Amino acid sequence: MLKLEIPGRSDILLKGIVFDMNGTLTVDGELAAKDRELLMLLAGKLEVYVLTADTFGTAATMFAGLPLEICRLKGQTGFLEKKKFIDSRDSSSLAAVGNGYNDHLMLQSAALGICVLGEEGAHPLTITHADLIVPSTGAALELFLHPLRLVAGLRR
Ligand SMILES: [Mg+2]
Repeated sequence: MLKLEIPGRSDILLKGIVFDMNGTLTVDGELAAKDRELLMLLAGKLEVYVLTADTFGTAATMFAGLPLEICRLKGQTGFLEKKKFIDSRDSSSLAAVGNGYNDHLMLQSAALGICVLGEEGAHPLTITHADLIVPSTGAALELFLHPLRLVAGLRR
């Protein structure tokens, strides 16, 4: 659980965080060792979900040992499935982190949407639907480990 007290807007009580996998948590399908450590720390504060089509079936091995839930997308319209994932839970208590076109609606639906520019870039629509934009996976993870960074960017 993470309570964000943001001057000028209502408090946000986060219970979970939903990540896109490719381009958001991974670069070229690989999770960096440093980001793995940060994910472990984050999982001590929030429920962590990873949404992925897992086309190559690598997610289970890559995230082995991390206390998170891998949620596999089934259809072709990932952006609708991702939004539905957020909406079917308590969206007001979820943050979402993504980079691609198919993340823009989940970033909008979540209480807090973070766009990762990263090595794989970000879709302009996803950038405009985000509350904050960060340069890397590590920076996205660190925002939630040092929430004053979030408050600084969101205060009115
Ligand atoms: Mg992506």
